[in-house]
Amino acid sequence: MLFPTHVLFGVVTYFVTRHVFPGGNEIIFFLLVLLGSVIPDIDTKWSKVNQWAGFVGKIISFFSTHRGLFHSVILYAIIFWFMYTFFSVYYAFALFSGYIAHLIGDVITPMGVAPFYPFSKRKVRGPIKVGGLIENIIIIVMILLIAKYLIGSFS
Ligand SMILES: [Zn+2]
Repeated sequence: MLFPTHVLFGVVTYFVTRHVFPGGNEIIFFLLVLLGSVIPDIDTKWSKVNQWAGFVGKIISFFSTHRGLFHSVILYAIIFWFMYTFFSVYYAFALFSGYIAHLIGDVITPMGVAPFYPFSKRKVRGPIKVGGLIENIIIIVMILLIAKYLIGSFS
């Protein structure tokens, strides 16, 4: 999926997951969900996140294959465990749910994702073309969902 789709998907995920665990700062929670929903694409030099990350991004994209470790459940399970152990389950869950939203967004495309990389390179894929008509429909649906959540939280 394209960057704006991942961002919108992240925002929807925030609304769906924000009350799963109580406690913590909701703005930090929101930012972590957003971060999780865009950070996997740091593994390609063509992505916005990679360019924002500057030198760190260059190192990561040099050493990793696109949709490799940074699109694997394994890496984020480790990050989740660290955040859960040393920080809080609330924030660990925020980053992880944003990340899962990103994975879902990529799994439905023909390029797919290998969720258990590097242990298995077997890819899970779907039929939805990046930037195609269905992605545009998904974008519209997500904007409507976000509008619905926003109206719901102010009324
Ligand atoms: Zn991706």
